Formats: sequence, structure tokens, C-alpha cells
Amino acid sequence: MLDSIIVGFGIAGLNYAEQLRKQNKAFCVIAPKDKSASHVAAGIINPTVLKRYNPVWKSEEFLYHALHSYNEIQKSLSDQILYSKPIYRILNSVLEQNEWSVAASKPLLEKYLTADLISSEALTHIQSPFGYGEVHCSARIATEKLIETYLKETIKERLIIDEIDYSELYFQENSVSFKDIKAKKIVFCEGFHSVNNPLFNYLPLVGSKGEMLFIESNELSEEVIIKGPIFIVPLGKNQFWVGATFNRTDKTSKTSEEGKNWLIKKLQQNLLADYKIIDHKAQVRATVVDRRPLLGRHPKHQNAYILNGLGTRGVMMSPLLSQWLYEYIEGNSKLPPEVDIKRFENHYFRN
Ligand SMILES: Cc1cc2nc3c(=O)[nH]c(=O)nc-3n(C[C@H](O)[C@H](O)[C@H](O)COP(=O)(O)OP(=O)(O)OC[C@H]3O[C@@H](n4cnc5c(N)ncnc54)[C@H](O)[C@@H]3O)c2cc1C
Repeated sequence: MLDSIIVGFGIAGLNYAEQLRKQNKAFCVIAPKDKSASHVAAGIINPTVLKRYNPVWKSEEFLYHALHSYNEIQKSLSDQILYSKPIYRILNSVLEQNEWSVAASKPLLEKYLTADLISSEALTHIQSPFGYGEVHCSARIATEKLIETYLKETIKERLIIDEIDYSELYFQENSVSFKDIKAKKIVFCEGFHSVNNPLFNYLPLVGSKGEMLFIESNELSEEVIIKGPIFIVPLGKNQFWVGATFNRTDKTSKTSEEGKNWLIKKLQQNLLADYKIIDHKAQVRATVVDRRPLLGRHPKHQNAYILNGLGTRGVMMSPLLSQWLYEYIEGNSKLPPEVDIKRFENHYFRN
């Protein structure tokens, strides 16, 4: 019998698999070949909320754990997946310059934001007459490359390309079976698809669709991530990720002309370079009503667990969240109440 079945292999499934791999646990991953939100994410690790000049919840813990964890994973892979990249926030007025300076002197933000402004001349082909504020400890994870390389090089023999049909799950007191696979536990890392999971669909997963463009330009700098009305993120080889939209009504992963036109309009507000659009994609972020992740044990099935609700920060948060969940399952340590699905237990018993 296996120790665990992991359902889904986006960034959550990957980071949970890494916990089990490090502890020499016997596990398998069940996931279809489809691309998930993790494949198309910009992969930015940013401990700040630049719209409101706040640090992310537990930013320091999540940031340093993520950087360490991806660096360790990278050492075991044949390719680079972690890129340190500063974020240059476009400043549109003297007022925004002043707001930046105030934010950069706040105790919780001073370790992330550079107090001295960057001159508007620093980047060619970007229009930013009032210069830039710099987030200096940010990074980018090449998520698609990470997922594909990790699958191929680290857990190839443990991957089962399939989709869980929930009616084929069979729970016993100390085990769970799916087809001919039997394990002590099952951990669902299904992203927004979890709304179809009868075990966990009582949780208030809202979902927010994001569309993005992939562009090519040989005039833009590959050294920095630019944050204006949208992000422009260098991917290497003169390609850039541009996004994203936020749509809370359409929960499909279909691209739209409306989304594309909105992105082009925002891109052209500050971009002076020639560019070519090479792709346009969409996926749904798994967002939660209270904007906190969803971790924990099913109220009835004691061997069914969830790691979800990663919202817009899954890349940065999932390494530490995976560790918290692992220690909760194996070590009987408590989950922080902010992320524990116990906070929604009344939704389960109401149904
Ligand atoms: C446009 C956009 C930009 C983003 N940019 C960033 C960013 O820069 N930084 C950041 O941190 N986050 C970003 N995010 C958010 C990030 O993508 C998510 O937080 C993260 O990818 C969620 O990962 P996940 O593993 O929980 O879910 P997913 O990536 O959705 O993976 C779910 C997995 O479960 C599988 N699955 C589902 N149902 C089943 C089933 N029944 N059986 C088997 N397998 C199943 C799926 O096939 C998939 O493999 C962005 C998201 C979007 C949409």
C-alpha cells in the first residue's frame, strides 16, 4: 500500500510531492495531461501588494521558504527554473513617487522596497517619466519548465496520467482506493477544478479567470519585471508574458477578444517597443472568499486532505503551505487557523 495519492500536478501537487519525496514516502501522482493555471502563471514571487503598498500575509516566511525550496529543487534538475529579477513599478506622478517613498520607509516593507527611485532613463522603450520604484527581492519561477522537468527527471515512474472519477474512490477506515491503487491517504491539489469534487465542493472557492498574452520583442530589457497597469515579465529569448485580466463571472479557460483587446490597450499605455503577439491563453485562479488558502482534513473522511485556494500567489506560497500540510498530517502539528478548512466546517454540516 502506498502512503499517499496526490491528485493534480500543478504547483501545489509538485510542492507536496517534494515533501513526500524528501521523506522517502511511497506515493503516486494522478493528473491528466491538460495544462493547468500553474503552467501559464507568470511565476512571479513578490512579497508585496503593489496596488495597496502592503506586505503579503506572512510575507517573510513565505518568501524565504520559497526561494530556498525552489533553489533546492533546481539543484536536482538539469535546467534553471529560478530567476532572481527585480520588479520595476512604473510611477505615474509626483504623488506616486511620494507614496513609494512613504511605503519604502514602512517597517514591514523597507526590506523589500528600494528607497531610492530608479531614473526613467533606466529602461529604453518603456514610457515612465516619473521613474520607477524597485522591489529588489523578487524572483520568477519558470513554472511550466519546472513542472515538465520535475515530472520527467524526478517522479516519472510515479505519475499516472488519468483523471479522478470521484465515484470510483473507495474509502475505508485506514485506506483509500482508486481503481487498483491503494494508499493510506489522498491529497487533493486540484486548483479551481476542485469545485467539481463532491468531497470538497462545500468550500467557498470563487475562482477568477485570468487571460494573458505572450509577446516577442527584441527591444525590451530581459533584466527586470515591469509593473504598470499590468505585468511585463521576461521569459528569455526575447519573449515576454503580459497580463493579466481578472474576471470573476466567466469561469472557463477560453480566451476572449475582449480580454485580448484589454491587455493590448494596457500594454500600449507604457510600451514604446515594437512587438509581436505569439500566443494568448487563459486559466482560472483558485481564489477563496476570505483570500486565504484551503488546507486540511475532510470533516468526515479522515484520510482525505486538500491543498488549494492558492489564489494569485500560489508560486510563492505553496512550498511552505505544503510543509505545513505535511507536518499536520504526519506530525500532528496544528495548521494556522487562517488556512485550516475547519473555518468553513459549518458549510459542510449545513449541506
Ligand atoms: C493569469 C494568471 C497569472 C498568474 N500569475 C501568478 C504569478 O505570477 N505568481 C503566482 O504565485 N501565482 C500566479 N498565478 C496563480 C497560480 O497560477 C495559482 O495560484 C497556482 O497555479 C495554483 O496551483 P494549483 O496546483 O493549486 O492548481 P492548478 O495549477 O490549477 O493545478 C491543478 C491540477 O489538478 C489537476 N486536476 C484537477 N482535477 C483533477 C482530477 N479530478 N483528477 C486528476 N487531476 C485533476 C489539473 O489537471 C492540474 O494538474 C496566476 C494565475 C493566473 C491564471
